[in-house]
Amino acid sequence: IVVFLARLPCFGLDIGGSLVKLVYFEPCNLQINRNGQDKVGLEAIQDFIKSNVNYGETGARDERLAMENVVLGGRKGHLHFIRFSTDVVGKFLLLAEELNASVLNDKVCATGGGAFKFEKDFKEILGVQLVKYDELECIIHGIHFINSSCVNECYYWNNLHCLEKSEKVPYNFDLNPYPYIVVNIGSGVSILFVESAEKFSRISGTSLGGGTFLGLCCLLTGCSSFDEALSMAEEGDSTKVDKLVRDIYGGDYSKFGLQGDTVASSFGKMCCEQNRSAVSKNDLARAMLITITNNIGSIARMCAVNHKVECVVFVGNFLRCNTIAMKLLAYAMDYWSKGTMKALFLTHEGYFGAVGALLELKT
Ligand code: ADP
Repeated sequence: IVVFLARLPCFGLDIGGSLVKLVYFEPCNLQINRNGQDKVGLEAIQDFIKSNVNYGETGARDERLAMENVVLGGRKGHLHFIRFSTDVVGKFLLLAEELNASVLNDKVCATGGGAFKFEKDFKEILGVQLVKYDELECIIHGIHFINSSCVNECYYWNNLHCLEKSEKVPYNFDLNPYPYIVVNIGSGVSILFVESAEKFSRISGTSLGGGTFLGLCCLLTGCSSFDEALSMAEEGDSTKVDKLVRDIYGGDYSKFGLQGDTVASSFGKMCCEQNRSAVSKNDLARAMLITITNNIGSIARMCAVNHKVECVVFVGNFLRCNTIAMKLLAYAMDYWSKGTMKALFLTHEGYFGAVGALLELKT
């Protein structure tokens, strides 16, 4: 993809249902030689971004994901990855106005539903025009760009028969990726069939996604953030909440190859008062995580079967710090496909849409 950078530095923006993802390209050897007002804007923003890792209550720069010496539009630079809650877009705009951000780029390439919803606010408050791009197209372009610029971006989980010992193993996705399926687990879920960088279609999806996990977890446990929900899930035992095959059969249902520890009915034990009083909030959080993850894994596998695809790539911020879900998806894809399918994961999880938007920046 040929990219021409009109004004530097520049941003790619993905305004999703839960999180805003902002990718910032900082050119190497940046000469600050504009007029006085521009200097203030450029220096202030650069300083602000790089001297903080957390911004307000929900904003964060994912330092572990930063990429050095990336070539974009013929220029070398560093990529920084920032996210914050979509609920605070208003505050973000006021802060950007304070930092005089519009002196850097009067046009910003943006994707996600919020690029439409907040277009007017960007124009009115910042004087910045959002140039809108399709979010699924941006995700695919972002995936290919990051995979070609970053070693060890793609990985899978090994030792799936013993998940405690399972570890990440790098996978060379560039070798022969097509065709493959992308499962983007954001607030909701979109599933894409990818035949080439420019030929892909949305083949399925589900509204039961990361937003459902977090929403129901907040309702059931009183937690108030994704990280809190995940820490609770880590301590919980979902078998106290879910009805397993062995709870019904007393063991395996061998005729159809269903092991005793397979979930037969998610939350199935919660119909009974006695069981309800025996579960903790952590157990409920764990069961919610397992329920949502298994459902997505099952839809993803059916899509892969229908399209005769072996590799399924899982992305989206639901997977952020979410080892339990990743291992479970890897296990489920392997187990139910009898080892014919592979679940792949990408280190930059939820940022591909924003990267794809950044790549669209042209003069
Ligand atoms: P969207 O574009 O719909 O916002 P994302 O790929 O950003 O989708 O994923 C959003 C999901 O990621 C949330 O529904 C939640 O499950 C999870 N998540 C991970 N980190 C956070 C966070 N800091 N705040 C809110 N949700 C988070």
